[in-house]
Amino acid sequence: MEEELESAVCPKCGRADHVIPIIYSCSRSDYARYQRLEKEGKCLLAGCIISVETPVFYCKSCKYNIWESELS
Ligand SMILES: [Zn+2]
Repeated sequence: MEEELESAVCPKCGRADHVIPIIYSCSRSDYARYQRLEKEGKCLLAGCIISVETPVFYCKSCKYNIWESELS
């Protein structure tokens, strides 16, 4: 089964294949699934950060945090 994660294009380097979503909740029922995906490098778990201003994606290519306002 193909894992369905959100994807985005990095506004810095323009790559899409190195951009992974940042998952913020540790209370979701599918957290174990995300832990497995993080081990595979497919997402980034950021724990229980409760904040209005948080980046939504991370670019593994240029190590850039991508904010929602930067996504087109
Ligand atoms: Zn990038």
